[in-house]
Amino acid sequence: MSDKEYIITESYNPQERVDAFQKLEPEFWKHKKLEEMSKDEWEALCDGCGKCCLNKLEIKGKIKFTNAYCRFLDCQSCLCKIYDHRFEVVPDCRDINLEAVREKPRWLPKTCAYWLLDNGYDLPDWHPLITGKASSVTESGNSLSGRELVNETKVQDYEDYIVDWQDL
Ligand code: SF4
Ligand code: SF4
Repeated sequence: MSDKEYIITESYNPQERVDAFQKLEPEFWKHKKLEEMSKDEWEALCDGCGKCCLNKLEIKGKIKFTNAYCRFLDCQSCLCKIYDHRFEVVPDCRDINLEAVREKPRWLPKTCAYWLLDNGYDLPDWHPLITGKASSVTESGNSLSGRELVNETKVQDYEDYIVDWQDL
């Protein structure tokens, strides 16, 4: 099957996902460890920033992010176009599980809720679990939307695309 046949075309409403958070226990993240969370609670922690879908390099034991994004990322909505098939289509697409969150060197952005909570920090005030709005991630400048990005298919040498954004 070609990549194109996987592309999700049906409309997806990120606000509906955030509205469904109301069914979750209030402020569950304040007293549960990551390993104690239900699947729905775990999923709700993802703010949809898209930053984990940037290509990265490991140089001298540190992760360097580039502004080259996975070709299946929709850079406006920061959604994966092939979410249900991502591991079949992109062999190095990573499942965000405990092992990934705790991997060293850190490869998730420092705004990522999984990494923050696992390292003793609280959720940022722009997180949809706090604001009740899916749009608050982009409105606060914390998603990839509106940034200068390049599709990975245009990249020859990733070292030319290393970025030093404060939120990575
Ligand atoms: S970096 Fe973290 S919060 Fe952002 S999209 Fe990836 S898993 Fe979700
Ligand atoms: S395939 Fe993986 S890395 Fe690519 S956009 Fe989807 S979730 Fe992100």
